Amino acid sequence: TAQLIDGKAIAAHVRQQVARRVAARREAGARTPGLAVILVGDDPASHVYVRNKHRACAEAGVHSVQHQLPAATTQSDLEAMIDALNADPSVDGILLQLPLPEHLDAGPILERILPHKDVDGFHPYNLGRLAQRQPLMRPCTPKGIMTLLQESGLKVRGLNATVVGASNIVGRPMALELMLAGCTTTVCHRFTRDLEEHVRRAELLVVAVGKPGLVKGEWVRDDAIVIDVGINREDDGRLIGDVEFTPAAERASHITPVPGGVGPMTVASLLENTLYAADMHDAMQG
Ligand code: NAD
Repeated sequence: TAQLIDGKAIAAHVRQQVARRVAARREAGARTPGLAVILVGDDPASHVYVRNKHRACAEAGVHSVQHQLPAATTQSDLEAMIDALNADPSVDGILLQLPLPEHLDAGPILERILPHKDVDGFHPYNLGRLAQRQPLMRPCTPKGIMTLLQESGLKVRGLNATVVGASNIVGRPMALELMLAGCTTTVCHRFTRDLEEHVRRAELLVVAVGKPGLVKGEWVRDDAIVIDVGINREDDGRLIGDVEFTPAAERASHITPVPGGVGPMTVASLLENTLYAADMHDAMQG
């Protein structure tokens, strides 16, 4: 039966490391890293995420400022806010919490964030850098998964990896990370004809779709590493992933639980990215 990958513990360790490096910066006379978080409207899940990010920043000694904008905010209001934060020397990182209300178009706003302040790593420049094997700011969830693998002592070079899900924020950058790490990478998505076949081949399986039980436990290859990114709420309020956990855990060598696997890593990566942004910011001014 599989070893659990304890995302909570690994994330706590990463956050401590960031806190230590932030303190060391301060001792060396550098600024406190600053993160600006923009939240438009009143999506309840987004509010929870933003609160968690704010708390994690405070614990790590990162100064975070929340900009809460009304649901009726216009595209040009939002552009003006990005321009102001881009120009603000106390702001190292800018995070636009998604999803935006329907009438707003996230793409042009994300592209307006200066790439070196783009702590979510969603700017086409940063995705392009990752695609060209010269990553700068790396999307938080895939980066967090690479940290999970590393901290668990798992070597991935040469593995057959299958990523299920191809979104801009998880699946796609995940596939790029795995290629960069030397995996032979297959990406499955809603048009994939035989998902089972691709899952069965995977020595490393990453699933990021948002459909509970999509990946059957019996499809999991013996001794595979299974990373379940999915977060689905059951009728009784419990959270479950996209992979049938119990039968998958009987076959896998390592598996992430939901909750407590990938989830906590995303915020930990955000802190790392904010610190990285502050270091880059200082170097550019220095
Ligand atoms: P998304 O809806 O943007 O993308 C889903 C992807 O799954 C698409 O590429 C689609 O083609 C693919 N897909 C849909 N049906 C499929 C099928 N039957 N077979 C194969 N592929 C299929 O979702 P997302 O934003 O990438 O998020 C995916 C899941 O990960 C969600 O449950 C989300 O809540 C979760 N998530 C977790 C974290 C975290 O843990 N920190 C972060 C982001 C997203």
